Amino acid sequence: MMPLLQVTGLDAWYDRSHVVQGISFEVHAGEIVTLMGRNGAGKTTTLRTLMGLLARSAGQITFAGHQLQGKPAHLRYHLELAYVPEDRRIVAGLTVRQNLQLGLIASARRGETDAMIEEIAATFPRLKERLEQEATSLSGGEQQMLAIARAMMARPRMILLDEPSEGIMPVLVDEMFELFGRMKQQGTTILLVEQNVERALSISDRAYILDQGHIVHTGTAAELLADTDIQNRYCAV
Ligand code: ATP
Repeated sequence: MMPLLQVTGLDAWYDRSHVVQGISFEVHAGEIVTLMGRNGAGKTTTLRTLMGLLARSAGQITFAGHQLQGKPAHLRYHLELAYVPEDRRIVAGLTVRQNLQLGLIASARRGETDAMIEEIAATFPRLKERLEQEATSLSGGEQQMLAIARAMMARPRMILLDEPSEGIMPVLVDEMFELFGRMKQQGTTILLVEQNVERALSISDRAYILDQGHIVHTGTAAELLADTDIQNRYCAV
């Protein structure tokens, strides 16, 4: 079967700095795949390039049979590819409910907003209790969940998550990883960038290790979880 996301020879630059150097990888429908690697390895840049947010990039990105490279960023939304950046982009001055509404604002399915909020609230009980609260009054972890929930409003086929557990208290990290398991069960494909290597591998099917803009290793999550040598070499922060 064709992968849902197929990336071939992807390059990305910031000015003249060549940050992603010809990487190839794939994600099949229904998988959770983790991109690992030290700070500065190029993980965030890879996600941003997939989303069409880099001024200069090259290579092939095929998502659900569509060529994405060179296409405007908003096309991804309509093809049901979602992205939750590290900084979450929660809108201050709006409630949790209103932030969720934004997740469908550009969609042909806008009419289903209320029904989708009900559905999302069932998956995110913490948000359900706080729908009318001002969104930036949520804790960091709750805001992260809101960012994920908002992206899920559009029922993406695949979601790219950048360091969702960063700076979040442990009890919410546990909840968040359980949530990823549930999202997978409900059919969402996930590409995860995480420093929390053991946690990420424990819920992943496979992983790729990035180092200085190259993929230096790939394997099943179980293989990589057992390989402390590789983890120490490429994933120490
Ligand atoms: P981290 O976990 O620290 O976010 P990362 O693996 O996600 O690391 P990137 O953020 O993709 O790494 O950064 C890769 C390289 O690109 C780094 O050397 C970084 O300094 C550089 N870089 C990132 N953003 C920019 C930018 N806007 N302009 C110039 N260089 C950048």
